[in-house]
Amino acid sequence: MIQAPRGTKDVLPQESAAWQRMEAVMRDVCRLAGYREVRTPVIEHTELFQRGVGDTTDVVQKEMYTFEDKGGRSITLKPEGTAGTARLFIEHGLFNEPLPLKAYYLYCPVFRYEAPQSGRLREHHQFGVEVFGAKEPTIDVEVIRLAMDVIERLGGKNLRLFINSIGCPTCRARYTDALRDFLRPKLTKLCPTCQGRFEKNPMRILDCKDPGCKAEIVGAPSILEYLCNDCAAHFARVKELLTVAGVPYEVDPGIVRGLDYYTKTVFEIMYPLENGQLFTACGGGRYDGLVESVGGPSVPGIGFGMGMERLLMALSSSGAAETESSPLRVYVASMGQAALDEAFRLTRLMRLSGIPCDMDHAGRSLKAQFKYAGKLGPEYVVVIGEDELKENKYRLRDMRSREETLLSQEELLCRLSGAEK
Ligand SMILES: [Zn+2]
Ligand SMILES: [Zn+2]
Repeated sequence: MIQAPRGTKDVLPQESAAWQRMEAVMRDVCRLAGYREVRTPVIEHTELFQRGVGDTTDVVQKEMYTFEDKGGRSITLKPEGTAGTARLFIEHGLFNEPLPLKAYYLYCPVFRYEAPQSGRLREHHQFGVEVFGAKEPTIDVEVIRLAMDVIERLGGKNLRLFINSIGCPTCRARYTDALRDFLRPKLTKLCPTCQGRFEKNPMRILDCKDPGCKAEIVGAPSILEYLCNDCAAHFARVKELLTVAGVPYEVDPGIVRGLDYYTKTVFEIMYPLENGQLFTACGGGRYDGLVESVGGPSVPGIGFGMGMERLLMALSSSGAAETESSPLRVYVASMGQAALDEAFRLTRLMRLSGIPCDMDHAGRSLKAQFKYAGKLGPEYVVVIGEDELKENKYRLRDMRSREETLLSQEELLCRLSGAEK
């Protein structure tokens, strides 16, 4: 028995309706705010992520699926959605179009080689938005509000927003000096990966999942005390606009996000599960240096990513996801060859009229067809037998009221499409 690779997840027929509802909400929220969909390939050149995500990050150092293709090129299955979108933006010269460019992606497969015991998927799917060419704090708050709108429209309640600013290269240089001074006496107690990060990117140490490293960073200096005037003013304005938008927030200087490209605003949206635990539904931030670092012009950007599997799981565990309804509105039951031919013709006709319907494809008896229909749960069953054929009529049974009506083809189609919900 061949099983799916560890850390991957199938979407079963009975689950896909919930996925599609979630996707419809995401599309609608984006459409209302002027975002358009983009799709990028599953594979990219490894260098894109080394330069775009940062080669001192956990993602790039430990979690990427990288291989050499037959042409000897280093190829990586995308570990996040932003770098590929930035590459698309540059490669197609979209920076020459009126900016900002507001883009979103949906059901974007993302691959990370996570430890299986962590409960995280190695392949999951992300919904995300990316905005290129907008430097003002209004877009930071629009993007945050948009992520929250999606979760709330899907039934999520009591969201908590955590924000931080991680500054720009100017103020971060002063901060990393202070951080190095704090960490230098503890250096030997850090994990080997963090020891390697100490010179190149000590902020990554704040993000290490190693419990030993987590203990050593307690009491580390806060970036917020080192922001330059520009970054401090930007952060103050973001907080002001959140208040204008009526969004409660908490400042958490511990949020650095796991990727190198972030500048200024970073945020996480948490969702309380039934057991009281907080679940990170969404993380994102501003990345003013990203486009330039992967070979494009200097264009500011901001975005977020939202893991779709985890969101759906959180929503259903808190009862926010709706239950699945029957995929069919009508089932056509028939008895005998001539009636089966008629059923075949009628289902096609109903589908052309926009009525979801099906018929027997398994050679069942009439009784077994009714039993099967009972399990599917359609609103109506159309019965075609010898009598109905002779009269050139269809017997329509309302499965809730059990009422039966004899109807001509025209009457049947009229009634079923007119009563369309
Ligand atoms: Zn700054
Ligand atoms: Zn570490």
